[in-house]
Amino acid sequence: MGLLALGTALDWPEAKTKAHHVRAWGIKQLLEIWNKAKVKERDAMLWGDEVEYLVVTYSKDDPKVLLSLRQADILAALAGDKDLAKEVTPPASPGGTKPKDKYPSPVFHPEFGRFMLEATPGKPWGIDFKELLHVEPDMKLRRAIAKDHMLPNEYPITLTTFPRIGSPGVFTEPHYPVSGPKLRSQFVPDEIANPHIRFPTLAANIRSRRGRKVQVNVPVFRDENTPWPWKDPTVNYDLHNWPEDDDVRNGAAPDNFIHMDAMAFGMGSCCLQITFQAKNITEGRKMYDQLSPLGPILLALTAATPIYKGFLADTDVRWNQISKAVDDRTAEELGEKPLQNDRWRIPKSRYASNSTYISEDPRLREEYLDPNLVIDPEIKQQLLDGGMDDRLATHFAHLFIRDPIVIFNEDLEVLDLSKTDHFENIQSTNWQHMRFKPPPADNNIGWRVEFRPMEIQITDFENAAFSVFMVLITRVILSFDLNFYIPITKVDENMETAHKRDAVLQEKFWFRRNLFSSRPSRGSGSGTNTPRSGGGGSRANSRPPSPVGPVEDEYKLMTVNEVINGDEEGEFPGLIPLVESYLDSVNVDVATRCQLARYLDLIRKRANGELWTAARWIREFVKGHEGYRRDSVVSEEVNKDLVGKVIEIGEREARGEGFKGLGRGVEKLLGGF
Ligand code: ADP
Ligand code: MG
Ligand code: MG
Ligand code: MG
Repeated sequence: MGLLALGTALDWPEAKTKAHHVRAWGIKQLLEIWNKAKVKERDAMLWGDEVEYLVVTYSKDDPKVLLSLRQADILAALAGDKDLAKEVTPPASPGGTKPKDKYPSPVFHPEFGRFMLEATPGKPWGIDFKELLHVEPDMKLRRAIAKDHMLPNEYPITLTTFPRIGSPGVFTEPHYPVSGPKLRSQFVPDEIANPHIRFPTLAANIRSRRGRKVQVNVPVFRDENTPWPWKDPTVNYDLHNWPEDDDVRNGAAPDNFIHMDAMAFGMGSCCLQITFQAKNITEGRKMYDQLSPLGPILLALTAATPIYKGFLADTDVRWNQISKAVDDRTAEELGEKPLQNDRWRIPKSRYASNSTYISEDPRLREEYLDPNLVIDPEIKQQLLDGGMDDRLATHFAHLFIRDPIVIFNEDLEVLDLSKTDHFENIQSTNWQHMRFKPPPADNNIGWRVEFRPMEIQITDFENAAFSVFMVLITRVILSFDLNFYIPITKVDENMETAHKRDAVLQEKFWFRRNLFSSRPSRGSGSGTNTPRSGGGGSRANSRPPSPVGPVEDEYKLMTVNEVINGDEEGEFPGLIPLVESYLDSVNVDVATRCQLARYLDLIRKRANGELWTAARWIREFVKGHEGYRRDSVVSEEVNKDLVGKVIEIGEREARGEGFKGLGRGVEKLLGGF
């Protein structure tokens, strides 16, 4: 995320009056890009990952592990390191592959939390299979560089959330009192957020637009000794500093839920994102649609978030918590009051699974779209008048139902059509699980699609594995012209399902039965054309006719294992076997293939339960800890040992020693890797 120049950020009441202005200019900028870039062709097949870190302070002798709020100093140290401006030599990858001699140095970015960092490769990865092998060493290099620019007791770790963020007492270094004017949180200080004016304004204006604090309520995990009904013991009902302190007295903190009240509880979570560049807009729109149904599957498969605010939660992933942490909808938009001042009821937060498909693919049936999609009809008309097609205009007219949250006064003086700032203002605060990224104003890069649901993994081996897997999936989709369409509302349902404890093994997800033919696969599956039987030669007749038959026959409930590894009946091939058929059909050298096999093996085992997700491992770690009292409480002591183990895993990985013998169930997380 690039941070724009500072200016005068408007407080909500004033920002609200400028919302139409920003939207109108945003649409003009969008049409400008659209008209310039819709004909762009033959852009390179580039891609890049984003890894987010928490920065913690840890030392063996200190009983507490804390979040370090030194993001700005660490970024300054990185930026001021002259050696880093040059190219760097990454370490060899574990498979023994020799990376290219030099890379551009990785790029470090600020994030919402003042305890967070983000790192991306120095330049996007190319199409060559060999480059897939550079991802893991590069991720390790990023972590090593980050660590080198920290204090000796600071560590970059890739847990999605800090287990005791917002717990009573001290959890940051330095410590600040809670209940500041921006967040007005009972649990976290304003200083928890990046001090760049954009971030506190974002948090304050979301709260202000909403008319109360955000309510991030997560069901608590009920263990043997958990009092029931459970009342969050950390909630203070006696605070009277701000009008928002009434929230908890008005029912914001229901029984049996861990109650959190600030953006930092969501946007302070770390994830793994992948951005792909398509060769042209048509391919980009297709990738967006085809990857959408995979979002919830990958969310469940990467589950890593079982603890909030010092309590075990009954959910395994971060998604809905972020969704609630930035939910700026008013009572009218939420449907709690009749519509008077607001324009429409809005069923989802601005951070949510995406709500529509955007491709003009003939396989996209009307029935897959949501008839209740909320759009701004005037904006849609402007886009249509500007030459955009109906489907894409619908997508943007949906994103543009939202208000811009952070507006800088200086930006409203002249409309600059050589920029995309107003468009990006709305676009970049629609945090959906896929993002369709148009080229920037100077048009020097292509149409991109971002895959955003995955949780960050503890090791770079895992982060590389999931990144590479998604890249291979995109190649398989394009090469075999796969069809993953299901009704978009089923994708929403799957997203909810992915939150359940151990959803990866215990739940079923709606998934398309037949990825090859447009017809329902009941019966013989005639007309199917799977690479299992056909290898790479299936491409010739893979373009299916327009679908017919009841939509409901096209999909069914499947386990993640079936989706990833295929079903026992042999009706559904499974994504990994498809990737393998694809790899068989193209020229990949043996060394590369071996390394890719390691990644696919990790994913196969996570899906079939041979290995645990990070969420499961963390749960078992807590349950097995001598200091845990089976009451859902994750104490300082348990937290310290958990983070200590995560640091130890990281040190092992950095030394290239493998993960054997680490104890505490690490072998169930990382097996023989
Ligand atoms: P954001 O935070 O807005 O998603 P970032 O700049 O943090 O954007 O990350 C974008 C990712 O996209 C990085 O991994 C980067 O390497 C990658 N990337 C940059 N340019 C391209 C491109 N032309 N095609 C594909 N990926 C790209
Ligand atoms: Mg980023
Ligand atoms: Mg980020
Ligand atoms: Mg991103």
